[in-house]
Amino acid sequence: MKVVLEHITKRFIDRNNKNKTELVAVSDMCLDIPDGKLIGLLGPSGCGKSTTLNMICGLEKPSSGKIFFGDDDVTDLPPENRGVGMVFQSYALYPHLTVRQNITFPLENLKGDKKLTKQEMNDRALGAAKLVQLDGYMERKPSELSGGQQQRVAIARALVKMPKVLLLDEPLSNLDARLRLQTREELRRIQKETGITTIFVTHDQEEAMSISDLIVVMKKAEVQQVGIPQDVYDDPKNLFVAQFLGTPPINVFAGEIREEKVYLGEDCILDAPGIEDKEVHVGIRPEGFIVDENGPLHCKIRVVEVMGRDTSIVSTHPVAETETIRSIIDSEDRPAATSGTVTFSLRKSKVLLFDMETEERIYPC
Ligand code: ATP
Repeated sequence: MKVVLEHITKRFIDRNNKNKTELVAVSDMCLDIPDGKLIGLLGPSGCGKSTTLNMICGLEKPSSGKIFFGDDDVTDLPPENRGVGMVFQSYALYPHLTVRQNITFPLENLKGDKKLTKQEMNDRALGAAKLVQLDGYMERKPSELSGGQQQRVAIARALVKMPKVLLLDEPLSNLDARLRLQTREELRRIQKETGITTIFVTHDQEEAMSISDLIVVMKKAEVQQVGIPQDVYDDPKNLFVAQFLGTPPINVFAGEIREEKVYLGEDCILDAPGIEDKEVHVGIRPEGFIVDENGPLHCKIRVVEVMGRDTSIVSTHPVAETETIRSIIDSEDRPAATSGTVTFSLRKSKVLLFDMETEERIYPC
């Protein structure tokens, strides 16, 4: 099912403000979510991700704009008539019910021609449990399951009604690191197997990048960029997106263009043909550094961290905008010294320039 958001805005009354002013949680959002894809809605806390999801689900009504499922305008439909399945950060399972009963619960109250027999309900529950690989746990209570298994029950419960759209709000946040990794792969598998259009909200960029077909990066109620994760990483529209994606994050310097060359302090690191003289933010991805004794960039080593295959060189530079610079290089190429100066040449494709004021990317254009 294709989902289209057409100029969606959501305003709330800000009860924190004694004048009860309005707060814009989502501003003029336009989004085309293709059928059968997994979309990661990504951004820092408070940027409007959950509000967007709640509007798609029908729990919140947009202040303006329209929402379409396929050709149908669902803006005014209540959640139960939209055909959506929802999974929240807290699994919200009934503790006194078994896995089977938890999964069949949403089927119990179906009415009219949708009403199912006990047998049909059990078959549907078993089908959903198989999808999340919990068919061997049907008679257990939630307290007898791990956090990851409980979240999979919640996913099965959302799937049992065969939703047209599956919505997940920070579904992995309550899991420890290992389970999180496992469950996100599970989520991807389930989504591929069912082909259900899935929108999931996270503030964890790595999580979104690793399993999404498309990511939507939001900041302060506004969509910044939509695209295939690798494309957005390689081609960020602005400094915010560049900084939000990638671990370790992109290194940012206060640079200057002089006579079509990029300077970091006195280090001339790159040609920038066609760009006028001005100050710029220079972003260099951690993987863009090459240890090279004849390289143009001179940094002071703070620490060299060997991590097996890779080595992380933590260094400083007088015009870096952050306290330290993190470069990731192949361990075989690590510098002999662990203190003093390290010189780098740079991979051109990993260097990005941003306007000092607007923070829009200006190079590569
Ligand atoms: P988080 O990752 O912390 O959950 P989020 O990106 O999901 O954040 P939202 O929960 O959508 O952000 O909130 C967006 C903004 O709208 C925030 O400033 C929040 O305080 C505000 N907000 C959300 N719901 C309401 C509400 N019911 N009434 C008033 N303000 C609200």
